[in-house]
Amino acid sequence: MSSPFKKIKVLHVASEMHPLAKKGGLGDVVGSLPKAQRELGIDSRVLLPLYPGVMDRIIGKAKKLPRKLYLPLEWRVFPARLWHTDVQEVPVYLLDIEDISFSADVYPNQLDMNSVRPFFLLSLAAMEFKKATNWNPHIFHIHDWPTSMVATVLKWHMYYSTLSNHYDTVLTIHNLAHQGIVQETNLIQWGIPKEAFNIEGLEYYGMTNFLKGGIIASDMVTTVSPRYSWEIQTREYGMGLDGVLKKYNSKLKGILNGIDYSYWNPKTDPLIPAHYDVNDIAPKRECKKSLLSRCGWEDDGSPILIYIGRLAEQKGLDILLPSIEAIPGHGCKLIVLGEGSEIYERALLDMCLQFPDSLFVKIGYDEELSHLMYAGGDMLVMPSYFEPCGLSQLIAMRYGTVPICRATGGLADTVIDADSASDGTGFLFSSYDSEAFLRAIGRALASWNSPNHWNRIISNCMKVDFSWSKSSREYANLYLELLGVPEGENKNLLL
Ligand code: ADP
Repeated sequence: MSSPFKKIKVLHVASEMHPLAKKGGLGDVVGSLPKAQRELGIDSRVLLPLYPGVMDRIIGKAKKLPRKLYLPLEWRVFPARLWHTDVQEVPVYLLDIEDISFSADVYPNQLDMNSVRPFFLLSLAAMEFKKATNWNPHIFHIHDWPTSMVATVLKWHMYYSTLSNHYDTVLTIHNLAHQGIVQETNLIQWGIPKEAFNIEGLEYYGMTNFLKGGIIASDMVTTVSPRYSWEIQTREYGMGLDGVLKKYNSKLKGILNGIDYSYWNPKTDPLIPAHYDVNDIAPKRECKKSLLSRCGWEDDGSPILIYIGRLAEQKGLDILLPSIEAIPGHGCKLIVLGEGSEIYERALLDMCLQFPDSLFVKIGYDEELSHLMYAGGDMLVMPSYFEPCGLSQLIAMRYGTVPICRATGGLADTVIDADSASDGTGFLFSSYDSEAFLRAIGRALASWNSPNHWNRIISNCMKVDFSWSKSSREYANLYLELLGVPEGENKNLLL
């Protein structure tokens, strides 16, 4: 039977895509969701900036499209080119704009009209996309503030708003903490008229808020877990946009992120020294040995806790740091991999000197070490203050590493407490303080000391399915809904 989703054409316009450019979960999602969508029959493609350094990695594999794009901005025209390559059979188009460079770090340190301009041009390139590719999407699927501007342009741009009937837009909020706020409120030189600057538009306390504009202008807004979709409508987690999100909640939907099960697979992962699956978990021990030797530690049988993630307030560093002193007393060790705020980086390195036998810290981004940690660790700690979805706990479960998480956002949606359910996959705590966190670690260690129970938890973790198979269908159904095709009807009706 032909797929009901065949002929839907979706262009993901994004600032990150693994493995070309990744800073966090957004990169993982754009690196894996389009692939899963193509498996459903959707013609899903990606438009991404050509960041410095990316070309070196795709050289010989990318083709420059013959037709130039002309992007109108600031009373002039910026000529641009698209480079086409395939990433795991997903067509990817990289935008190369004359006289404009995207930041090698992906996101600028300081947001102002100058640093945000390349992303605005990316949105204009989405409008001109068909001219260079002869391919026209039905839907722009946009991600966070850098590409929320696509919806803004379609709604308010003095010229491109005429295209708004031709496209639908889905905005996925991966993290509400980043909103793309700039001081300037006069965007007329970008083609956005003054009328767009009011409470029902881009205006935000006398500044421009691109994510707010995107939320208002998009046809559908999704968040990366169901729980986060209602959390952000509260004052505590709404980051100043709870009122807007509440107002537009009829178009707001939470769809849980998945991970690419062919990439994150302990049975085949080329970055780990031994391979295993739920039927034979013994080789995980080899991975643990290798991880310990990487840290300069002997295998003394103690459980290994791992932390992999940005070193940011959001991730619960304020309760993780004071808990470190208690780690040796609990008879376990902690390995931290991350980068981010200098304060946290320095504090962790200082504590490393204090606790060399129980704390190992690697500052930086290290994909290879992250795989070894997921495979070689026993427990993953994720004490996040808020967590839109969180991928680390999904990856950890896939590798039989038991998550200990604060019950917020996607963590609460994906981890089942093992002390309250026989199909438990981890340990949850609610209160945002070190004591509650340490109590959850204590409960995990108690289970660790009961091997049968512990093995069941590991097995539960490895059996749950957080691949894209379910969530990619949810997106597909949402696209159908947007395109006005009644559920169950064949999508071949689409032009
Ligand atoms: P975020 O809030 O950063 O998007 P997620 O848990 O959703 O957090 O996704 C984080 C992703 O980035 C995971 O794939 C994780 O393994 C990876 N990651 C985070 N920090 C590092 C690091 N320092 N080195 C390697 N991988 C990292």
